[in-house]
Amino acid sequence: MTVVERAPELRPGGQAVDARGVAKDVIRRMGLDAAVRAARTDTAGAYTVDVDGKVLETFRADDHGGDGYIAEIEILRGDLSQVLYDDTRDGVEYVFGDRIAELTQDADGVDVAFAGGDRRRFDLVIGTDGLHSSLRAMVFGPREQFVRHLGMVLAFYTVPNEFGVDRWLIDYQESGRSAGLRPLQDATRAMAMLSFSAADFDVDYRDVEAQKRLLRERMAGLGWLTPRILAHLDDTPDFYLDQVAQVVMDRWSNGRVGLLGDAAFSSSPMSGGGTGLALVGAYLLAGELAAAGWDPEAGFAGYEARMRPFVEANQEIGRLHVQSRDVPDPDAEPAAEPEWDLGLIERAINGVDLPDYAEVPDSRAPARPPVR
Ligand SMILES: Cc1cc2nc3c(=O)[nH]c(=O)nc-3n(C[C@H](O)[C@H](O)[C@H](O)COP(=O)(O)OP(=O)(O)OC[C@H]3O[C@@H](n4cnc5c(N)ncnc54)[C@H](O)[C@@H]3O)c2cc1C
Repeated sequence: MTVVERAPELRPGGQAVDARGVAKDVIRRMGLDAAVRAARTDTAGAYTVDVDGKVLETFRADDHGGDGYIAEIEILRGDLSQVLYDDTRDGVEYVFGDRIAELTQDADGVDVAFAGGDRRRFDLVIGTDGLHSSLRAMVFGPREQFVRHLGMVLAFYTVPNEFGVDRWLIDYQESGRSAGLRPLQDATRAMAMLSFSAADFDVDYRDVEAQKRLLRERMAGLGWLTPRILAHLDDTPDFYLDQVAQVVMDRWSNGRVGLLGDAAFSSSPMSGGGTGLALVGAYLLAGELAAAGWDPEAGFAGYEARMRPFVEANQEIGRLHVQSRDVPDPDAEPAAEPEWDLGLIERAINGVDLPDYAEVPDSRAPARPPVR
């Protein structure tokens, strides 16, 4: 197996992601429970505050058996990829600093031309290149066909911890906007998190200066610690801003090319389930392909059938979370506080069967020498 990553090396840090329910089972079955737990963040929970910083609601990381709003398995995205990389690097070929430029497939394999100049043939190609997947665009169609914006923009960046943030995430919300701070392992710094509603809004995710200007405009006048958080926009070493979006597709495979993770079924950061979906999806995709003797049609069909209801439940949670932050129309009847459907939450955490593929006779992908 070959993994191709566009970045020149493993990307460290990044946002905190979580594993709940069946995703924890997948981690256990990979034998990585201890390594993942050792690399966890130390977040104790979250609380919401009013404009004066008075605590309104508290969510603890050990609520709901560790599968609550802040999960007991919360880990930086970069630390999770380090654990996965360390465990697989001896049996897997990793190629950093390259990407697929072109591919063509026939009945027996896929010819891939890499941007760096290599040409190779593979039995199967799986696109795991995230929300803005270029493999998806190459094989399935343009981004606009599949990416659904949910009408909200999220921004994250590191600030000095002049706010005394400790092991708790703090969130302040006002009229469809929010500002928050979360702890980082390096206690001298904290992560600022800002959001605002933005229907029909497109942002060039490469133009950081324009994004910072926009963030300042949209957050102007927001109370609590927001002005002090915004004051660090020019000296932050990192910056992320993007539309909250989901990927909705009728199928996640085309011949010998499949999609997995955010590229196929992003549920958005607002679902809190994207990493769980990617882990569970990877387990089922590998298992179903192996169980089908590496026949792409049968393997992809099994993976899609098992995954789809689980994906839909997580996407529903993402949409409901965005809606719960909508500004109420001043002329509308006062709406009741949305009731969370506990059945839906359970389906989003545990709603998929994980067969035990250890019994599958040939559970390793067939080896094929590279053709250059
Ligand atoms: C701000 C934010 C907050 C989030 N919060 C949470 C959370 O609390 N809980 C949670 O579970 N999930 C959260 N998520 C979602 C989570 O990060 C994703 O669902 C998860 O990382 C998906 O994994 P992935 O491997 O499919 O894609 P990604 O993590 O996006 O990884 C894609 C990889 O592909 C590489 N790549 C991109 N293009 C190419 C190319 N052309 N060729 C080769 N490589 C390429 C990228 O460099 C990257 O390493 C959050 C996401 C964001 C953005």
